[in-house]
Amino acid sequence: MAAKKVLVTGATGRTGSLVLCKLRQQVNEFEAVGFARSKSKAQELFGTNEGFFFGDIQDPLSLEAAITGCQALVILTSAKPKMKAPPKLGERPEFEFELGGMPEEVDYYGQKNQIDAAVEAGVEHIVLVGSMGGVSENHPLNRLGNGNILIWKRKSEQYLIDSGIDYTIIRAGGLLDQPGGVRELIVGKDDTFLTNSANGIPASIPRADVAELVIQALREPKARNKAFDVISKPDDDPSAIVTTDFAALFAQTTPGL
Ligand code: NAP
Repeated sequence: MAAKKVLVTGATGRTGSLVLCKLRQQVNEFEAVGFARSKSKAQELFGTNEGFFFGDIQDPLSLEAAITGCQALVILTSAKPKMKAPPKLGERPEFEFELGGMPEEVDYYGQKNQIDAAVEAGVEHIVLVGSMGGVSENHPLNRLGNGNILIWKRKSEQYLIDSGIDYTIIRAGGLLDQPGGVRELIVGKDDTFLTNSANGIPASIPRADVAELVIQALREPKARNKAFDVISKPDDDPSAIVTTDFAALFAQTTPGL
């Protein structure tokens, strides 16, 4: 069977780069292409610019060139709040977004551009990595830099569902830079892990486990047309059973926002 051609956006990001690496380890199954805005960052991370398209998700033409001929798209772009300055003693830090990098621009219009380009190119499946916390407009992350980041992310998730392309929406808990493949993953919905139903399990997950979920979602039919929250049990939890059966995990997830 021919390899599935997959475009990964945000490919120089912390999770996107892991996804691209993992896909490139499965050359018989996937032909992975990265989309990024910085040639030097791609060079630094991957040692080459080969297999990359460079552009901006706010420029539909640059997306069009990258996505042509792809069967799947992995969206891993995101607006990123930056601390304005170190806070004074006893004060809370203040955050801002770079010019042109507000969540409305990146997480809504930037994602909408990617979804529109995918529809135009006849892409069959989009895996979108987003964030838990979008159910309540009062989530504190929305106040960072007056960005309403989770509101815009949620709006683009709905846009994806309405696009008619098969979707997998992975709403991660707090991302950890820790090893993957050593934890039990738990799926849910509607931000219930942020309230009381996680039995004290921290609402977090390693980026490496999110990257593996993306790969498995590209393979596994049970991940199609599903949206879910995901966290992990701590790696020293004696009750944890390391997740290896991803079909069974996706079977617990449901369609719709
Ligand atoms: P990240 O490292 O911040 O990467 C974001 C990527 O988006 C970067 O590669 C960035 O490019 C790219 N990007 C931003 N604006 C762009 C534009 N206009 N055109 C092209 N590319 C653009 O991401 P992450 O921390 O791995 O997070 C992955 C996802 O998980 C995000 O959606 C995030 O919101 C979500 N999430 C995060 C947390 C957390 O704890 N941080 C928790 C739950 C969910 P550059 O590389 O050039 O900067």
